[in-house]
Amino acid sequence: MASPSNFVNIVPRVGFVSLGCPKALVDSELILTRLRSDGYEIAPNYRDSDLVVVNTCGFIDDAVRESLDAIGEALAENGRVIVTGCLGAKTAEDGANWVAQVHPKVLAVTGPHATDAVISQIHRHLPQPDAERPIQKRTPTPRTSDQSMIEFDPGVKLTPPHYAYLKISEGCNHRCTFCIIPSMRGDLVSRPISEVVREAEALFKRGVRELLVISQDTSAYGVDINYRTEFLDGRPARTRFADLAEALGRVASDHGGWVRFHYVYPYPHVDEVVGIMADSRYSNVLVPYLDVPFQHAHPDVLRRMKRPANGERNLERIQAWRAVLPNLTVRSTFIAGFPGETESEFQAVLDFLTAAELDRVGCFAYSPVEGATANALSGAVPSQLREERRDRLMAHQADISSRRLARRVGTQERVLIDELVWLVGDEDPDDAPGEPTAIARSTADAPEIDGVVRVILSANQMRELRVGQFIDVTITAADEHDLEGRLT
Ligand code: SF4
Repeated sequence: MASPSNFVNIVPRVGFVSLGCPKALVDSELILTRLRSDGYEIAPNYRDSDLVVVNTCGFIDDAVRESLDAIGEALAENGRVIVTGCLGAKTAEDGANWVAQVHPKVLAVTGPHATDAVISQIHRHLPQPDAERPIQKRTPTPRTSDQSMIEFDPGVKLTPPHYAYLKISEGCNHRCTFCIIPSMRGDLVSRPISEVVREAEALFKRGVRELLVISQDTSAYGVDINYRTEFLDGRPARTRFADLAEALGRVASDHGGWVRFHYVYPYPHVDEVVGIMADSRYSNVLVPYLDVPFQHAHPDVLRRMKRPANGERNLERIQAWRAVLPNLTVRSTFIAGFPGETESEFQAVLDFLTAAELDRVGCFAYSPVEGATANALSGAVPSQLREERRDRLMAHQADISSRRLARRVGTQERVLIDELVWLVGDEDPDDAPGEPTAIARSTADAPEIDGVVRVILSANQMRELRVGQFIDVTITAADEHDLEGRLT
């Protein structure tokens, strides 16, 4: 590996490995954006990189293993590695940095959401092409009569061009006993509403069609800054979830896009957001979809988990939301086998799923995370039983999801094309040409985690359509996960 001094007159190249959740992906996007403006190039492989940054995840043990493997691989393949992200914040028992202990050859380690610290380490170990060169700053564009906002550069995005994650806050004020995120990312810090809305507008102008709003706790947006009031287009707007929903609804409506909300806890004020989604001005732009991570349904387990909104009447709340917004999709995740979970507490989850008829559900078998306070709880459930409960939960939900999807057969829906492919069926011979198909998503499907709508096309339609285009389809078939449709 050449030393940085060999690169005085050529552009330094940084390799980047991004692991973890959408929030970590946004951290990667911020770092890459700064690198680009500082004059670095992003290398496509280890060999062409002068240094590699690994953005890690430390959420569950599997993620920790994957992150450690990625660091090991980067060290073996390149040798010059800087580590950032959630795992980078972990400390060993003696208070030293844990990653640096496991991989002592890494050049530097920072925690999550630490763009400045990562950039300064990169500058230190791989100097900018010309240290005298001023860093390119965002220059405010003068206002004109038809331009109410300052142009915002949303920077590098790692998602396909037609959708993007929009992070509205960092950190979390809760202390769920199975989670170590607050110890890694700190308490809630909300971005100002004007900045979030400017970024949304810039992304739509760039061609994004779907914005996925993410945070650790979207319902808590603005609580840390007392729901500060700002001005958007001359109108007052508070830094709070409902005002943000309305503002994003206006921007999406102006640009023909969609907005989807993730990590929403079922607090009473979410009712207001559901009302805004149902408002005819926003009904095609704020998609009727809420990702609500319930994690459990039994009040005692929720208390042991110290979950936000653990005293809320979640079933009644979902029913009230559906009364206002009948086509609302509710997705959630659950943990099976949390310490002390009895068979009847687990049964409460199955009963809740039956009654709530959630549309999409994911489930993890509980896995202890180093440093989490849940590790001190008594009544550990044997790992085989945790897995068995996870499988039972998923089998139970499969019937519910199938029923919910089957109800949509015959309806007309708007979908967003993710891919255009010649689809070859499992039964088809290897040399079969395949069927022209749009792999699309409806309002009920977030990318990566939910299902898809496969739209069978003619060859002509295939030629005319584009990825990132909205099309209207009639749903013709359903299974437990996906739908099929034809152009309307
Ligand atoms: S709400 Fe709970 S699970 Fe989510 S980040 Fe905060 S502490 Fe972790």
